[in-house]
Amino acid sequence: MQVPLIRLQCGVNSYDWGKVGNDSAAAKFAAATPSDFSIQEEKPYAELWMGTHPSNPSKDLTTQRTLLDLVQDNQALLSKDIAERFGNKLPFLFKVLSVGKALSIQAHPHKKLAEELHRRDSKNYPDDNHKPEMTIAITEFDGLCGFRPLAEIAHFLKTIPALREIVGDSEAAAFESAIKGQDTSTEPAAETKNKKALQKLFGTLMNSSPEAVTKACYAIVQSASSEGASFASGGLPSTSGETLARLVARLNSQFPQDIGLLVFFFLNYVELSPGEAMFLKADDIHAYLSGDII
Ligand SMILES: [Zn+2]
Repeated sequence: MQVPLIRLQCGVNSYDWGKVGNDSAAAKFAAATPSDFSIQEEKPYAELWMGTHPSNPSKDLTTQRTLLDLVQDNQALLSKDIAERFGNKLPFLFKVLSVGKALSIQAHPHKKLAEELHRRDSKNYPDDNHKPEMTIAITEFDGLCGFRPLAEIAHFLKTIPALREIVGDSEAAAFESAIKGQDTSTEPAAETKNKKALQKLFGTLMNSSPEAVTKACYAIVQSASSEGASFASGGLPSTSGETLARLVARLNSQFPQDIGLLVFFFLNYVELSPGEAMFLKADDIHAYLSGDII
C-alpha cells in the first residue's frame, strides 16, 4: 500500500531561552508552513516539535487531524513492527531547538530508572521512557556534554583559585591524590576510585552555600575579565583560556552568579558547525548553550 505524503503543521514553543524573532530557525520552519502562524520580531521561539506528544501535537495541515490520530488510524504510516513495538506512537520526538540563552544543566534517566520514577510518581515523571538525544547543528552551536577528563578538572582546581576555594583545599587535594597516576586508567578498580573521587568533589561543589557560590562567581568573572587569554593558565588544548574567559563573561551575563558557571569547569565544552552532531546517552549530563539544532 502506498503511504501518502502528509504535510504537517508543527507547533512552536515560546520559551524565554529561545532565539528571538526571525533569528530563530524554529520560528522560520514554522512560518514556512502556510497557517495562521507569523513571526513576531520581539518574541523568543525556542522549539518546534514534530511528533505525537500530547502537549504539542503535530497536525495534518489539510484535515487538522493530529499525527497521533493519523498513525493510530493507519498502521502503515509507522509500519506494523514499529506500531506494535511502541504502542502506535512515534518512538521519538523530532525537535528544532533554537537556543538563544544557556539551558539548564540536565541529565535524563536511563530506561530502568525512568520506569521506576514513573511507577513511583507518574505526575512528575509522565514518561517511562529513557531519552537519549541526537543533536545535529544547523547553525554554529555550542554546548556542554559529559564530565571532562579528570586531569582537566584538576587543571582548573590548580589554576582558578576561586574554584579551589569553594570546594575547599582539602577536598581538592583529596581529589588530586585519588586520581594521581591513574586518571585515564581503564582498570575497574581505578575507574571506581576515579568515579568516587569525582562524585565527592562534584557533590561538594553542588552542596556549597548560595553565598559561597555568589562569591566564587564574582571572583571568576573578575579573573576572566582581567586575565583574558591567560585565564586558567591559558586554558587547555580542548578549551583555550580565551574561549574560557569569553564563555565565563557570556554565561554570567545570562545568569549572574549562577552555580552553572562553576559546573561549567567540570563539563566538556563542545562546538559544532552546521552538519556536525553529538550523541547523548541516557544519563549523560549536558546543557545546550547556543545555536540552532535538530
Ligand atoms: Zn536534554
